[in-house]
Amino acid sequence: MKETEKQKILKAGEIASQVSEYAKKLIKPNTPLLEIAEKIEAKIIELGGKPAFPCNLSINDIAAHYTPSHDDKTLALGLLKVDFGVHIDGFIADTAFSIDLEANEENKKLISVSEQSLKNAIEKAKESKNASEIGRTIQKTISSNRLSPIINLSGHSMEKYELHSGITIPNIDDKKNVALDDGLYAIEPFATAGSGKVYDGKPSGIYFLKSRKPVRNPLARQIQDFIEEEYETLPFCSRWLVKKFGSGVLFALKELETSGALHQFEQLIEVSHAKVSQAEHTILIDKGEVIVTTE
Ligand code: MN
Ligand code: MN
Repeated sequence: MKETEKQKILKAGEIASQVSEYAKKLIKPNTPLLEIAEKIEAKIIELGGKPAFPCNLSINDIAAHYTPSHDDKTLALGLLKVDFGVHIDGFIADTAFSIDLEANEENKKLISVSEQSLKNAIEKAKESKNASEIGRTIQKTISSNRLSPIINLSGHSMEKYELHSGITIPNIDDKKNVALDDGLYAIEPFATAGSGKVYDGKPSGIYFLKSRKPVRNPLARQIQDFIEEEYETLPFCSRWLVKKFGSGVLFALKELETSGALHQFEQLIEVSHAKVSQAEHTILIDKGEVIVTTE
C-alpha cells in the first residue's frame, strides 16, 4: 500500500471518529432525523472529508438503510442506529453506533452487546485474519447474551470508491474461512432479540450508479453526469440531489432507475419487528497489523 493512500485512509478514519463524538452530543429525543443527517454530513465536510454515503438513521426494527428524504418529518426516538461514512479521494471510513433515546433497559442491553461483540471481533482480527473466526466471535458474544446476530447483514471489504468490494465479514461462522489480506474492512455486528434476519422494506432513496445508460430526458442526463462526477460509484441519496437541483430531480431519478443506470437500496427491516442495535468500525490491515481507523 502506498503511503499517500494510507494517510488518506487514516485521515478519513480520524474525521469519522470526531464526527461520532459530535453526533453523540447532537442527538436528543425528538430531534428531526433530517436535521441530524444534515449536521453530520456538514461536519464531515467541515473537517475536510466527504460523505462516503448518506447518513443512515434507522430506528428500532429498521436495521439499516433509512436516510431522511428532503421533506422528512421523522423525529429521533427509541433505539437509533447512526451509520455514516467519510471518504477522502475515495478512501473510506465506515462507522456506526447506536443510541437509546427512551431510557430503556432492553435498548441499553442491545447496544452494549453489539459494542462488546465489535470489540471482541477486533481483538479476534488481531490474532486471526480469518473472516469466519471473526464471525464466530460475534455470534458467540451475542448469543451468550441470549440475543441473536442479524445473519444476513455483514461487514465488508472496501476499495477506493467501492463501499462493498467483495469480501464479507459475517456476523456468524459462515464456514467459508476467507483469509483477510492487507486491506480495508468494516466490521459491523447487529444484535436483536428477534429472529435475526432482515427483509427488504420500502425504497430508501439511497442509490448508486450501476452503469451509465443513454437517457433522453435532459435533466436525467444532467443528473447522471453529476452523479458520475460527484459520487462515482459511492452511494448517494435523493435528498442531496433535491437540494442541488430541486424536486424535479425525483422524476429524473425514477427514469434513471427504470433504465437500469441506478440501483436503489431498500430499507432493511427485522423480520419479527424486534429492535436492532449496531456497532461498526473500519480496520486497516497493513503488513498484517490491524489498525482501527475510526476509533
Ligand atoms: Mn456503515
Ligand atoms: Mn459498513
